[in-house]
Amino acid sequence: MGLAKYIGAIGRSIMTLGDGLAVTMSYLFRKPMTIQYPDRTAEPVVKMLPERSRGILEVDIEICTGCSMCAKQCPIDCLHILVEKDAETKQRNLVEFAIDAGKCMYCGLCVEACPTSAIRHSHEFEGGMSDVNRLMLHFVDEPRPVAKPPKKGEEVKTKPKGTFVRPMLANALEPAVPRKPRPPKPPAPKPAPKPAAEAKPETKPEPKPEKKTLAETPKAKAAEDSPPSPAKTETPESKPDKPAEAVKADDGKATEDK
Ligand code: SF4
Ligand code: SF4
Repeated sequence: MGLAKYIGAIGRSIMTLGDGLAVTMSYLFRKPMTIQYPDRTAEPVVKMLPERSRGILEVDIEICTGCSMCAKQCPIDCLHILVEKDAETKQRNLVEFAIDAGKCMYCGLCVEACPTSAIRHSHEFEGGMSDVNRLMLHFVDEPRPVAKPPKKGEEVKTKPKGTFVRPMLANALEPAVPRKPRPPKPPAPKPAPKPAAEAKPETKPEPKPEKKTLAETPKAKAAEDSPPSPAKTETPESKPDKPAEAVKADDGKATEDK
């Protein structure tokens, strides 16, 4: 590299450095685009969110009819609703309405299905808990009568968003308070027993022929009955006599020898 090229490279480096610093310096005099969350905001972030933003769900129990339309629409079973009918007064009571905020995916299907807008998204979004089970939000402490469905064209009044869920989230950060145990349900009547099926006649299996042992076979039995065979011990007396022809031949040989 020649000296001229070398000096030119140094000049370009200085120019590039100046460009970068000029961009950085320009931001010193502009209004910042970011905010320091959560403690240095001009107002709470919840109030700055758009009206239709989907925060943690909440329920206005006073206008809930207990129709369970919201629970039927939820694709992941986040809503637990229990309505019981009083046997004497025939009054339907809302016994439980719980939202699993730790499981909810904020799709909004339940909100669209609700006929009274009792369930809705609040603007609350800070749900950090030490235990995810605390995000199971219970909106019914004691059984209460369900609301009557609104008449056609009737406007249903409700409270501002966040009224119900905000204190619940604050309480969820406190040590857990045990919920009141619910009375046990009466046992369901047992179904009548079915008539017993006609008894089939017992078919006894044919007895298998017993296997005979070796000692019981006819051959072995005959062998047992027969007298024992004489011992085959060879004694000098018991040796068989030579045949007559052999004796004769022996005598002839002897006479020739004589
Ligand atoms: S917002 Fe969606 S996921 Fe959450 S409770 Fe409603 S239907 Fe279920
Ligand atoms: S929140 Fe709405 S949809 Fe759900 S049970 Fe109550 S009235 Fe019905």
